[in-house]
Amino acid sequence: MPLLLQNVLLDDREPSLVAAAVLALPPERIRSAEVVRRGVDARAKSAVWRGNIKVELDDREAEVLASDVPGVRAWTERDEARRVGSFPAHRRAWPTRPIVVGAGPAGLFAALRLMEAGAPVLLLERGEPVETRVGTVAGFWRGKPLNPDSNLLFGEGGAGTFSDGKVYTRRRDGDLGWIFRHLVDAGADASVLDESWAHLGTDKIRKILPVLRQRLIAGGGEVRFNARVVDLIVHAGRCVGVRLANGEELLGGPIIVAPGHSARDSIAMMLRAGAVGELRPVAIGARIEHPQALIDAGLYPGGRGKLPAASYRLAYNPPGARSAYTFCMCPGGMVVPAQHEPGSNVVNGMSFASRRAGWANSAVIVQVGPEDYGATDASAGQRFQARIEAEAYRLSGSYAAPAQRVDDFLADRLSRELPKSSYPFGLVPIELRALLPAAVIEGMKGAIRAFDEKIPGFASGAGVLIAPETRTTSPLRLLRGDNGESPTLPGLIPSGEGAGWGGGIISAAHDGFTVAERVIG
Ligand SMILES: Cc1cc2nc3c(=O)[nH]c(=O)nc-3n(C[C@H](O)[C@H](O)[C@H](O)COP(=O)(O)OP(=O)(O)OC[C@H]3O[C@@H](n4cnc5c(N)ncnc54)[C@H](O)[C@@H]3O)c2cc1C
Repeated sequence: MPLLLQNVLLDDREPSLVAAAVLALPPERIRSAEVVRRGVDARAKSAVWRGNIKVELDDREAEVLASDVPGVRAWTERDEARRVGSFPAHRRAWPTRPIVVGAGPAGLFAALRLMEAGAPVLLLERGEPVETRVGTVAGFWRGKPLNPDSNLLFGEGGAGTFSDGKVYTRRRDGDLGWIFRHLVDAGADASVLDESWAHLGTDKIRKILPVLRQRLIAGGGEVRFNARVVDLIVHAGRCVGVRLANGEELLGGPIIVAPGHSARDSIAMMLRAGAVGELRPVAIGARIEHPQALIDAGLYPGGRGKLPAASYRLAYNPPGARSAYTFCMCPGGMVVPAQHEPGSNVVNGMSFASRRAGWANSAVIVQVGPEDYGATDASAGQRFQARIEAEAYRLSGSYAAPAQRVDDFLADRLSRELPKSSYPFGLVPIELRALLPAAVIEGMKGAIRAFDEKIPGFASGAGVLIAPETRTTSPLRLLRGDNGESPTLPGLIPSGEGAGWGGGIISAAHDGFTVAERVIG
């Protein structure tokens, strides 16, 4: 009978030696031991790794220990299900070919699920396959023109490709386990199944994507890149196909459109065809970047040792004022330009699997809502974001990002000099209050001062704010009925973050899975 040892201190020793010590047994009595969940416990005086260990012992010995040793219990079937993550699809016949628009996490995982159910699914992506997309992004950073169809946001893997690849979820079982299992089978480190603050890193994601693509094709799916959908074909009130930018018409159904929140043209296309949506709040602000050593010192007062680059998630909720929080923290990462159209500046954060860069960054953001957008039509939130992004370009006069040292930002003065930064296009000193709404500036100031109490130096001149961070999520949710279809345009299924049904890699992938299951069912 296997046992589960919960919340044990993990050090440099083999799991079997840790387990033997916890159970007070000679090591030779442990048949096998593996870590099945782990995370950094920063509450201890010196931060440490803690986690759960699955142990195999002689059955009778295990039975006694399961009831006698605190923190030890029998390994259950549910524990096993969490580990395996298998979730078989119901196969059926397909009278029409489902079409999925967008190969981001939502579209890709929707297509994979449909393929598993036997569907001859067609996946259309406006950008390039990841192998060429990487070169296109690098070319832009070196000064080539921005490709509006293949960039940091568009192309295979969507916005998740050039990301930190954080895959934090409370559960890793059932349908979520299905997603994690696909990632691991395609090359992700198996530790993502177990680590509470798991991340993939952009370099790993770039290797995983071609494997998932091959799996889709081998299972009977088709993938087309450089295939921008410009119109939905509607016949007798039903969405029955798509028209590509080259004029080609492709018929099928249902049509799942998962364009991400930056493809404003694709969201407009769905509205034009008859989909309806409702405005939602988003949060905007700027990326804050510090030396990683400052964050490590604040969060690991006993020293970092062999622990990973320290990470934080902070929130500030003043009574009667707008709350602010940090978002998408990238330890050991870099701040990246995240625009999809020329003449605009937007920033975001990315990291490699090793998280070895000398900087730590996160977004410090404040909620804004329809009352700030200046209009109430479905595109009002997107225009609000676009105005700030265009203004950021106008103020800096280039793809260099508007920036302000943190102490200068708090004192309302222009920075004379800016700290060294990871941002590939460089920074231009700008007073951020000329760019962001006053309520956002006030919320950010309060939050940064409060966060300084948790991480000493957070509000100091060692940090720099790089703006604007406007695309944290979609300001519009496209409505769906119980079957996942638009209630006003049957045959169309809006999915993922752009449709307002996900925020983050795993939640968008999960939405893709969910809509695919409704189609299959
Ligand atoms: C730099 C950066 C870092 C991030 N870091 C993290 C992180 O660490 N963890 C996390 O959980 N999330 C992170 N995110 C957010 C995450 O990437 C998104 O939430 C997620 O990718 C949304 O998935 P999606 O499939 O809904 O949309 P997207 O990933 O945006 O994919 C949409 C796809 O649709 C394609 N498309 C759009 N319109 C058309 C059309 N008309 N025809 C054909 N194709 C079209 C696009 O080219 C794109 O490839 C990050 C985002 C960025 C930009």
